[in-house]
Amino acid sequence: MQTICVTGATGFIASHTIALLLDRGYHVRGTVRSLARPDAHAFLTALPGAAERLELVEAQLLEPGSFDAAIAGCDAVLHMASPYVMSVADAQADLVDPAVKGTVNVLQSCARTASVQRVVVTSSMAAVTDEPDQSVVLTEADWNTRSSLVRNPYYFSKAEAERAAWSFMETQKPAFDLVAINPFIVIGPSLTAQLNTSNAILADLVKGTYPGILALTWGFVDVRDVALAHVLALETHQAAGRYLCAGNTITMREVVSLLRGLNVTGARLPSLGLDNAVGSVAVKLMSYTQPGGVGSYLRSHVGRVPRYDTSKIQRDLGLSFRDIRISIADAVADMSRWGHVGR
Ligand code: NDP
Repeated sequence: MQTICVTGATGFIASHTIALLLDRGYHVRGTVRSLARPDAHAFLTALPGAAERLELVEAQLLEPGSFDAAIAGCDAVLHMASPYVMSVADAQADLVDPAVKGTVNVLQSCARTASVQRVVVTSSMAAVTDEPDQSVVLTEADWNTRSSLVRNPYYFSKAEAERAAWSFMETQKPAFDLVAINPFIVIGPSLTAQLNTSNAILADLVKGTYPGILALTWGFVDVRDVALAHVLALETHQAAGRYLCAGNTITMREVVSLLRGLNVTGARLPSLGLDNAVGSVAVKLMSYTQPGGVGSYLRSHVGRVPRYDTSKIQRDLGLSFRDIRISIADAVADMSRWGHVGR
């Protein structure tokens, strides 16, 4: 493997992955929606090794054939571009179409390119479940079958996109093989000033957006571990199938306590304890006043504890996960550096 195409190069996870690929000596072809404003990609072109080995190419998820030029001559493709937003005006047009049609378009371009040996799609834990149940330990065999255009539409877009990818493999039988990485909530330092949806969970806690401490338990994973998982999925010949990618779970109460210890200037951390039976009923009622995607997320996650088995990625790819308490501290320090939260 020498030349790798990364779709959605400007993204939070993609930019870390590109930095790692360049560091390991790969040539990288990154796709962006538009090259019109070079300043929008300056953080990528300034990466060590980028001047010699990074090329940015325009490609549109919804345009068949749009990725042909970017993928031409590449040995592998990391398909990361997909909208990551919880609430949208039109779930079909804004989330599902770019996720699903985008994935199929990328795979069709790969199938037309003889040099491509492997495609790694960035799927999500959202394709595994949208309503964790603590009596079930989730594995790669689980699929989210409950989301829809009105219930957790972002989750729906990810589950449908990953299904479309596996279905493409089955029906088209292309020459390349496919690996899916299914990360949980990705946090950590960002290479750009853009505040990613997942890091925004921590920023919102610090800024006092939450009315209290909710009965939420999150599975976090460090962006640097997710980037490494993708690179290892390219480099490990026997990698196959799906890989759950997540560190430990942590409750909102534990996160708030950790954030309190960081003494961020001007922090307005929640203190009202809503992480009990009465509080959860109140939060679920209140969820109907929230934008669609946020409301359905609260109703399907409050009071639920995700449990999952990540032994496959640890065993097959040799990946070990950073302590998420370190990732939280690093993420907040970085958000402070970018001005998203106080110092
Ligand atoms: P970002 O929002 O940082 O990056 C998303 C990338 O996709 C950007 O490059 C963006 O381009 C591109 N993109 C989004 N919508 C479109 C569109 N309609 N057409 C073309 N390009 C588009 O997200 P992340 O880095 O967090 O996510 C990357 C991948 O990882 C996604 O597939 C996401 O679903 C998945 N994922 C993320 C998790 C997380 O917690 N962050 C967890 C699990 C999976 P532009 O910069 O032009 O907007």
